[in-house]
Amino acid sequence: MSGVPGLPTPTGPYLDGGLLPADFYAFEELLSDREREKIASIRDFLRTQVAPIVDGYWAKAEFPFQLVEGFAKLGLVDWADPDSSESRPSNLLAGFVAMELAHADASLATFFGVHTGLAMGTILSCGSDEQKRRWLPAMSRFEKIGAFGLTEPHGGSDVAGGLQTTARRDGDGWILDGAKRWIGNATFADLIVIWARDVETKHVLGFVVEKDTPGFTATKIENKMALRIVQNADIVLDGCRVPEANRLQNANSFKDTAEILRRTRSGVAWQAVGIMFGAYEIALQYAKEREQFGRPIGGFQLVQDLLVKMLGNATASCGMVTRLAQLQDAGVYQDEQSSLAKAYCTVRMRESVGWGREILAGNGIVLDYNIGRFVADAEAIYSYEGTREIQTLIVGRAVTGGLSAFVK
Ligand code: FAD
Repeated sequence: MSGVPGLPTPTGPYLDGGLLPADFYAFEELLSDREREKIASIRDFLRTQVAPIVDGYWAKAEFPFQLVEGFAKLGLVDWADPDSSESRPSNLLAGFVAMELAHADASLATFFGVHTGLAMGTILSCGSDEQKRRWLPAMSRFEKIGAFGLTEPHGGSDVAGGLQTTARRDGDGWILDGAKRWIGNATFADLIVIWARDVETKHVLGFVVEKDTPGFTATKIENKMALRIVQNADIVLDGCRVPEANRLQNANSFKDTAEILRRTRSGVAWQAVGIMFGAYEIALQYAKEREQFGRPIGGFQLVQDLLVKMLGNATASCGMVTRLAQLQDAGVYQDEQSSLAKAYCTVRMRESVGWGREILAGNGIVLDYNIGRFVADAEAIYSYEGTREIQTLIVGRAVTGGLSAFVK
């Protein structure tokens, strides 16, 4: 695409060689020096290895497996190995990592979020010490990749009450039967967390199903128009037998599942901030370079209006997730606070990427200019891990002192 006479050079948030000024209120300065060094190393990886290739993989809807080693080298989840001497990072740093990844590419941010937050997060929360020792060391080195199977063909928003996959005790193991939909990483994951209802107690239990277990199949969902790099799968469990040793010993009801989602939803809000930062930077760069009526379009009031609204959305959302992370670090945050951030930031994201695309006009729909990918990916992020409506119902129930508007 580059080199077309009269057109601005396609730019991405990193292709320009560094970070453009989307962090208008310098939130990053709230991190310690060591944490900022970590972010700088991630940014360097994203700028040099990820940004140049993501469009091609997005277009092909393929996963760039060669990047997995680079993710491992960043050492972002080394701390999760039970034998590691490293301590868990602050929620603020974890948020900045999610933001930084999405700032380059939302699909890879999703890959990382599913593997570390959902799959490893479940084993960390619900696994016994033995199970953590068995699975987490290889997962923390990205030698084994995880997936998280909760959503079902018939149960998306209503998965808590509507979960139909069954678990039946069978001697020293369990038989799983049912179907899952949308499960990220599942076409190639080594360890797939599966949530299933115990036919006896009706409680939701968690299991780790290992790849190649008989009765487990994962089929890639084709023809997506968002997050095309993420390999989402339809899973079928047909008499799939797993040993009792693979039942997560501390997952006893859906409350344990909800605890994991509470944490990961705030991560999705951070991803939305990353997308807003990326989209703003691309639009700003373009507005400074593209000339119409004899001047850069960034010199028109109407274009500045869009840029400033995008910056306002990104800045307000970043402030919200930063405070949320501080509450998480203090150990006092609630489900509804995560839900409000997920709902608010993704609404602002959806609005902002549209404005960014508008600034690039025709070039905004060409993949090479990067913004089109953000527009498409924002649609999936808006809906996954609980739609805006569902997050709204969670917040609404909390602020009215328990008046639940969920209808059954
Ligand atoms: P539905 O629940 O069918 O909702 C359809 C519409 O109805 C929505 O607008 C919804 O808000 C609205 N609605 C539903 N109930 C109400 C109500 N009571 N009041 C008002 N409105 C309502 N799941 C996993 O388990 N693991 C994964 O790794 C995973 N990755 C995903 C990746 C992608 C790219 C996508 C798109 C989804 C992924 N999901 C995953 C599933 C995701 O969490 C669900 O898609 C999401 O929760 C919404 O469910 P649904 O798509 O079935 O929509």
